[in-house]
Amino acid sequence: MNPLQEALTQRLRNEAQLLELISTTNPKKEDLARWGGFSEKTAARLLWITRTLPTWVFHTAARTHHIGIAALDAIASGINKLCNPDVDKHALIRDYLTHADTLSVTELDAHIRTHLNQLNKNHTIPRKARLAFNANPDVNGHCFLQGAGPAELVAQMRTILTRDAEEIRRAHPNTDMKLSEAMFSALAHKILSERNTDNNHDPYLPYRPCYVIACDPTLRYHSDGKVITTDGSLINLTDIVNQETSTYGYAIAYTLTEGGDYEHAGTWGLERFFNNHQRFIATIENPLCAHPGCNRPATNCQGHHIHAWSHGGATTNWNHAPLCAPHNAQNDDTNTHHNGRIERCPTTGILGLKRHPTSELQFNNLPVARKGIRRWLAQLKQNE
Ligand SMILES: [Zn+2]
Repeated sequence: MNPLQEALTQRLRNEAQLLELISTTNPKKEDLARWGGFSEKTAARLLWITRTLPTWVFHTAARTHHIGIAALDAIASGINKLCNPDVDKHALIRDYLTHADTLSVTELDAHIRTHLNQLNKNHTIPRKARLAFNANPDVNGHCFLQGAGPAELVAQMRTILTRDAEEIRRAHPNTDMKLSEAMFSALAHKILSERNTDNNHDPYLPYRPCYVIACDPTLRYHSDGKVITTDGSLINLTDIVNQETSTYGYAIAYTLTEGGDYEHAGTWGLERFFNNHQRFIATIENPLCAHPGCNRPATNCQGHHIHAWSHGGATTNWNHAPLCAPHNAQNDDTNTHHNGRIERCPTTGILGLKRHPTSELQFNNLPVARKGIRRWLAQLKQNE
């Protein structure tokens, strides 16, 4: 072997060993990308390979086969497409590993495809229902949505939407609205009209857990919703209720009135959730999820309490960070220092990720995220 061949052979062995380590340690995509100098796409692919094939494959590949990432990727892709339940997966992988020793990656890939076509004859993978939305609008400002699901369910949806669409067309007799256009309006109306922004019209209110608070008898209730304490200070009853009931859905308050009787003073959906106006403000300030590199639009994000609500964090604009569901779930709300936590830069107010209490804030620097008003305000401040 010449030095180049030796180096390349060593590289293949290292690649298989690398996959074996990824398989046994299962790192996070972001960490793998950072540590390995990979793009997140490459890191995701490596993780996918190690989750599709069992660990022994990489162990064997590194020690007896000397095949690298490309060949193992081809094998993983093939195994992923196998839908004949009678085939022994492990034996098939062993067979492909042996082929990988003598074939180039291109030949291996072609061999696996042909072989699988034969194995899969008369078998199909049962597909799961799905609905997906295109992230980028086309030149007309339209976004595609598409999905698939059980035929009978789709037929029912279609019947309901067709009925509504025809009603819409009848209501607009002088326009040449096509059925497909009316169908879209019907769908949009169906979904958007059910959005409810008012706690008092929450259809699930009667089914939520409820906490009845008998307020401290030293407090006196006033008709303006405030409570006077024995030392003469006025406090919003909602503040007391919110504090008392942080783990419940809504509260009903009974208080002693000036007349000296207990009376129902109010029912509150707890201000655990950011209201629409706060969400709107947060979207203008941060158009995307606050996590570095995440391109989920803020409008589809959850309202995250930077200082956790369960630890007394307020539902205020300053304590609000839009985070997509996965990144919200990852956030360290306690002092565990596992994934890091979202914080606000104290001088600019820009949201960023603090991986560790001592590390610098990392910001979402995707082009859309940089359009956020907070960035602009920070620049204005800098130019002062
Ligand atoms: Zn995110």
